[in-house]
Amino acid sequence: MISIHFCGAVGGVTGSGYLVDTGKARVLVDFGIFQDGDDQRERNRSLGPVDPRRLGAVVLTHAHIDHCGRLPLLMANGFTGSLHATPATLELLEVMLEDMARIEEEDTRRINRRRRRAGEETIRPLFTSQQVGQLLQRARPMRLGQMAEVATGVRARAVEAGHILGSASIELHIDQDDGERCLVFSGDLGPGGAPILRDPEPPAAADLVVMESTYGGRPRPDTRRAVAEFKRIIEQAAAAGERVIIPAFAVGRTQTVLYYLAEAVREGRLSPDFPIYLDSPMATRATQIVGAHPELYDDETRRLREHRQLEADLRGLRIIESVPESIALNDSDHPCIIISASGMCEGGRVIHHLKHNLWRRNAHVLVVGYMAEGTLGRKLLERPERIEILGEHIAVRADIHRIEGFSAHAGHEELLNWLSPMTTTHPRVILTHGEDEARRALALAIGKRFGLSAECPGIDDVIRLE
Ligand SMILES: [Zn+2]
Ligand SMILES: [Zn+2]
Repeated sequence: MISIHFCGAVGGVTGSGYLVDTGKARVLVDFGIFQDGDDQRERNRSLGPVDPRRLGAVVLTHAHIDHCGRLPLLMANGFTGSLHATPATLELLEVMLEDMARIEEEDTRRINRRRRRAGEETIRPLFTSQQVGQLLQRARPMRLGQMAEVATGVRARAVEAGHILGSASIELHIDQDDGERCLVFSGDLGPGGAPILRDPEPPAAADLVVMESTYGGRPRPDTRRAVAEFKRIIEQAAAAGERVIIPAFAVGRTQTVLYYLAEAVREGRLSPDFPIYLDSPMATRATQIVGAHPELYDDETRRLREHRQLEADLRGLRIIESVPESIALNDSDHPCIIISASGMCEGGRVIHHLKHNLWRRNAHVLVVGYMAEGTLGRKLLERPERIEILGEHIAVRADIHRIEGFSAHAGHEELLNWLSPMTTTHPRVILTHGEDEARRALALAIGKRFGLSAECPGIDDVIRLE
């Protein structure tokens, strides 16, 4: 008998983690941090049902922090198994986890200074960069399509998920006394037709499917309209000699933005010499990793690369490395586009660019990503008269634009189409990674179209497969 323990991303979209126990081995699929809810810090410290000493392997779908952010915790608790993911995911994982460790260590130092003065007990960081290093030593690259033995009687295969570079859905082939069972974990599924990446590829058959439901019951936002709006704003701002600040997540969104800027140049809507600054060390590293994996591109991006077209289009692109260079950008007010992180304006260099440009009438902020409740990015979207940044009150005179539609997730119909080929083997279908309303809507549609009754487990529920 096989059991699956649901450690997160049920009734929400963060904290993904599924512990599979085959009777002979334990394998963990994803182990991310919770980013929604109030008691995040404590929840993220918890390993739940996972005993790292008894864990044979971890298989990771992709490098987003809500899927991988708790993995280094395993190292402090005796994990000696192996970590399997695609080569691109492993490269991005290093970038993501090192950045998170650095922020954790800095935050903890600051919190502890305050706690010591107050005579309170000090706290430990969630994990350290040393633990990230130890984790990465256990990494075993797994190419798309290739079957790899990950633990006793468990083989894993990764297939394209089209969500971010390296993202994969995972098939686990598990030996049981009466034959093999195949479990499929969708991971996060991308939308069809996203730039750079190939479309998701559904596995052919399964006994059980755990699938995401982010856009259950809804179409995803219209990408075509979003891209048109994005280019219109860029074109007008550049023509008027104005500044555009684009806060963007380092992995995924930054590269999408660069791709559409290149397209705007190709269409003659933006001069190839108009300065574009990429000012985020993490986004720069992520962009280099994307550049190093042409084998994962879709046909269009591959063609552009063969003709060295993207470099030609983006010849106005400047990479900002040092902090003084970043500061110098705001000593002048020359027209330019600045792409910077963090994505939700909660830290990083983008904060400084906002502080120095929001008060200008001839500036624009282009919001292209999700802004969670309580973040500076979300506050900006409410277009306040003034806003507090780094202890200073800044007038908001810049135009704030919101572009919805650069989503990295499949819409309702695309989710159903992904599941469709597997329904011929009548699998059990388990829905996760979506708000409850979205899960219910998708479950209803799956029942109607395929006659399967999809299950919606809660946190710490255990599902058994005969
Ligand atoms: Zn993701
Ligand atoms: Zn996710």
